[in-house]
Amino acid sequence: MTTFSVRFLGCKVSYTDADALRERLLADGHEETSAGEAEIALVNSCCVTREALGKSRQAAAKAARTHKHVYVTGCGANLEGAFAGLPENVTVLGGESADAPRRLADLVGRAGDALAVRSKRVRAFVQIQDGCSFGCSYCVVPLVRGPARSKSAEAVLTDVRHRVEQGHKEVVLSGINLGCFHDSAAAVSLADLVREAGKTLGLERLRLSSIEINHVGAELIAAIRETPTACRHLHVPLQSGDDEILRAMKRHYDAATFLRRLEGLEDFNLTSDVIVGFPGEDEAAFQHTLDLIERAGITKVHVFPYSPRPGTTTEDADDVPAQVKKKRAARMRESSINACLGRWRGKIGMEESILIDRPGRGYASDYTPWLVDGPLGEIVQAHAKSVTEQGIIGKARRS
Ligand code: SF4
Repeated sequence: MTTFSVRFLGCKVSYTDADALRERLLADGHEETSAGEAEIALVNSCCVTREALGKSRQAAAKAARTHKHVYVTGCGANLEGAFAGLPENVTVLGGESADAPRRLADLVGRAGDALAVRSKRVRAFVQIQDGCSFGCSYCVVPLVRGPARSKSAEAVLTDVRHRVEQGHKEVVLSGINLGCFHDSAAAVSLADLVREAGKTLGLERLRLSSIEINHVGAELIAAIRETPTACRHLHVPLQSGDDEILRAMKRHYDAATFLRRLEGLEDFNLTSDVIVGFPGEDEAAFQHTLDLIERAGITKVHVFPYSPRPGTTTEDADDVPAQVKKKRAARMRESSINACLGRWRGKIGMEESILIDRPGRGYASDYTPWLVDGPLGEIVQAHAKSVTEQGIIGKARRS
């Protein structure tokens, strides 16, 4: 038996990848322990920004000092030279992420009988597709994850059932570019999948991790509205609200399209990603992004200061000074906090169902954060009393 620790960096797909590695080693009879005690370390890396890759390298280097062996997987493992120069006890496992658990298992060996393994998170992530064929000019993801391809609907539905049987109340359908999901052999679209997965016996909540605006259409919205378990929350990356910058980013939509596709979704909580300091972004362009976020009614914004990525169209372009990026990022975050507070204040006095995902905290179905006590992994009914920048302060109803 080998003891191991797991660390993931980056997005929910990276988390799902890391969880699959973890489950494979547990099923092979190995034991997960804290990083200080484990013999081997798994680092599922991210390379979406320079900062994320730097953190991934640091994590691998640190783990190499305290573990006999370190395996680096994930997006960064497919970026040539990203982990060059690290100690000899670091092995980089590139290739298809779906294949990584098997290849890791071959390297680590088997120690015992398969065990029933439950994901550590309260929410279960079920990956429905991998890769992306969009080719945004700044993005390294298609280079390291390959083109878009989907799992079969049957495999996804089996996975959802499995997670619910394990006790998960909420399942998040995840992918690199989720809206590209299409099971052509069975003629199942993402909207069909939402309807089918949403019917899973025992499932309380079904969430989409992130969806490009090009994929937000009437059919998908109808499926979410008609499916009682489907959450009224959409995470829709904007990246920029300026048409010229959007063109340079090769995002294939403009500001007006972004707004139009979100019309009528006032009952949804909308969240987004924004890149600040993209090459050529001047003050006016940045202001367009701030304005669009407000007009679209977006609450939480994940802000990423632009950094050029190797192998992309914009790898040699980076003309916005670091200080300017920093200030714009701070302004965008401040605007996002105000938008969150505004929406949350509107809920004071209301009662909502909160899934407790860590001590004293949880999320409503629309992904609004609440500060409320309750048993971990359970859904409690809570009254909204007041708001802070961390979320709505609630009081759980006694059952
Ligand atoms: S949609 Fe664009 S930003 Fe997102 S993964 Fe694909 S290429 Fe990258």
